[in-house]
Amino acid sequence: MKTQARVLIVEDEPAIAELIAVNLRHSGFVAVLAEDGVVAQREIDAILPDLILLDWMLPGQSGLVLARKWRADARTRQVPILMLTARGDEPDKIAGLDAGADDYITKPFSTQEMLARIRAVMRRRTPDAANESVKVAELNLDAATHRVSYQEREFKLGPTEFKLLHYLMKHAERVHSRSQLLDKVWGDHVFIEERTVDVHVKRLREALGQAGSMVETVRGSGYRLTARPQVALIN
Ligand code: CA
Repeated sequence: MKTQARVLIVEDEPAIAELIAVNLRHSGFVAVLAEDGVVAQREIDAILPDLILLDWMLPGQSGLVLARKWRADARTRQVPILMLTARGDEPDKIAGLDAGADDYITKPFSTQEMLARIRAVMRRRTPDAANESVKVAELNLDAATHRVSYQEREFKLGPTEFKLLHYLMKHAERVHSRSQLLDKVWGDHVFIEERTVDVHVKRLREALGQAGSMVETVRGSGYRLTARPQVALIN
């Protein structure tokens, strides 16, 4: 039997936090509340959550600062982060994704939307072929240990970038449209914009350094991973 997934809710509005917690518990999750970054860190140090729901506007350290901190920390690097943002704050959303959040939910949101996104993010974190290794040219990905290396040099990737790279490597040289990638990598993408794919591809390229040019943009079509990048055409 699978143990219940633990969700840490970092939200300073007690009414919103309680409402989220009640809904999560009702759906079989263990919900833990933290009203700021200090309490959240204490919870994380005690028991590592399976997912963090992170409000943008918090007293003390902002959600953005916390997302960056938890992405940089080895203990929390693989924990999916869903950011809660105010309606229509497009720059916030992109900044949140850039800081390492896996997705965002715009307030006010429905319980159904929140649960769908939580499930999608958690599914994404579990690659279907967990123990598979893939090699394309000198780029290596080990799904079991979550290690990615190029010419013996190891890279640190967030959970979404890892899954995206895994998919692109398993289907190397093929061109995938943004909507195909949302389908295969994000799984449940009803609420995710195609632009999200671009943000994660950009982050993947940056994380891969020298090997980043292997992730090619195919104008008007989408993206592909290739063993023979045409470096001059990149970006
Ligand atoms: Ca708040």
